[in-house]
This record gives sequence, structure tokens and C-alpha cells, in this order.
Amino acid sequence: MRNQIAAANWKMNLTFQKGEKLLDEILAAGIKLKQHQQVIFAVPFPYLLMARSEVEEEKNYYTAAQNCYHKKNGAFTGEVSAEMLHSLAIPYCIVGHSERREYFKETNEMLADKLNLCLEYFITPIFCCGEPLPIRESKMQNQFVQTQLQESLFHLTAEQITNIIIAYEPIWAIGTGKTATTDQAQEMHAFLRSILANQYGQTIADQISILYGGSVKANNAKELFDCRDVDGGLVGGASLIAQDFLEIIKGLK
Ligand code: PEP
Repeated sequence: MRNQIAAANWKMNLTFQKGEKLLDEILAAGIKLKQHQQVIFAVPFPYLLMARSEVEEEKNYYTAAQNCYHKKNGAFTGEVSAEMLHSLAIPYCIVGHSERREYFKETNEMLADKLNLCLEYFITPIFCCGEPLPIRESKMQNQFVQTQLQESLFHLTAEQITNIIIAYEPIWAIGTGKTATTDQAQEMHAFLRSILANQYGQTIADQISILYGGSVKANNAKELFDCRDVDGGLVGGASLIAQDFLEIIKGLK
């Protein structure tokens, strides 16, 4: 079975102390993950070491960065490189979240560079794609995400692509409380898998975890995760509340 993943994206929320307490509460619940299940906490940069040491002893619980820079190193004050993350033994990094695309003008080409750097430094990227509302309303969502994948992902080799996690996050669903229906999610995830299959073959496409993100909550996670091509979720708001995120973890296949 493909890896089934609950990934928390804290964004720019929580103080260090509150973050530590939240992790303590989640881990204290003692949910034992199955072999194919993973929980990933994408925390702010200054909390990475704390989070890494919190999850260190827990099987299949991991830490992620929320971003890295698209250049290898150099005079880029305030930025964090993939190599730096690797030197802290951080195994995952979100790449191309829609907030970064929008507010920090990240382009598909820049994201291709980030993916290359992550892979060079043995970091598994969680690559985000997804369409804004006007594109969904004009029924152009498939072409839109296909271009995102083509321009950021499809230069990768078959071996590299199996080290990527994809998160489909329709922008109209992020932080809005307006979750995609299970039909909308399954339809898009099946489409994503079909274009991965066209590019890399069905066997490879079947190995790639595709997460859904956009107002995943305790009360809708399980029905979304039960969809055939949905392999878990990337969760913002609901990952900040221990009980809610615990329910979401329990919803994994
Ligand atoms: C996200 O941050 O990627 C996200 C999906 O946020 P939310 O769950 O709050 O919609």
C-alpha cells in the first residue's frame, strides 16, 4: 500500500512553548502508526530542532520545514537552504504552498529548482499544487494543475519522482472552511495519478502519495482519506488543535 500521511502545516502560528505543548499532547495520545502510515509536522524554522527531538523516538512521526530557498547557498540574507535542513536531519520540506506562490511570487520554475535541491540533499519534498477559484469555476482546473506538474516536476527521473509527495490543495478550500467534496477530491487525485502514469508509467504513479489539503477537519478527514486516490492530508488550521489533529490521524487508511 502507498504511504498514507497526515501532515500538519502550522504556518506562522504558535509560539515555541505552545508548539512544544501541542506536540507533547499529540504524542502523549500514543497513536501507534501502521507500517505504511506517517505523521509529519511542518513547523516554523526556529522550532525544527525541538520538533525533531520530540518525534525522534516515535515510529513514523517526522518533522518538515515549510519552505527552503531555491538557490544552493550564498548571499541570501534570511533564507534557509536545503543543505542547511539536511545538516539538521530534517527529512521533509513543503515546496510550493499556494501562500508562497501568491505572497512570495514563487514560480513553477523556482519550485523546480527547490525540488532539485531538496532531492540533492535527501529531503523529501511535499509538492503543493492546486487551482484558484476562477479556474475551478471555468472548469480549467485539470489543465492548471497539469501545467504546475509539467513545469516543476516532470524534468525529474522516475527514481526521483518516487521520492516526492504531492499535495493537491485547491486554493478556494485553504483556510476557508469550504472543503472539496469527496467526488471533487477523488476526481482530481485520479487525474493527477493518470498524468503521472502517462509520464512515468502506472507502476511508478501507483507508488506516489497524493495528499488532499484544504479545510480538512476532524469531521471530514476520514471520508476524504477513504477515497481511492487520496493518501491522507496536508492540514493547516485543524493541525493546531491536538484533539482535532488526533482525529485526523485516526482517519488515515
Ligand atoms: C494548508 O495550510 O495547507 C491548509 C490546507 O490549510 P487549512 O487546512 O487551514 O485549509
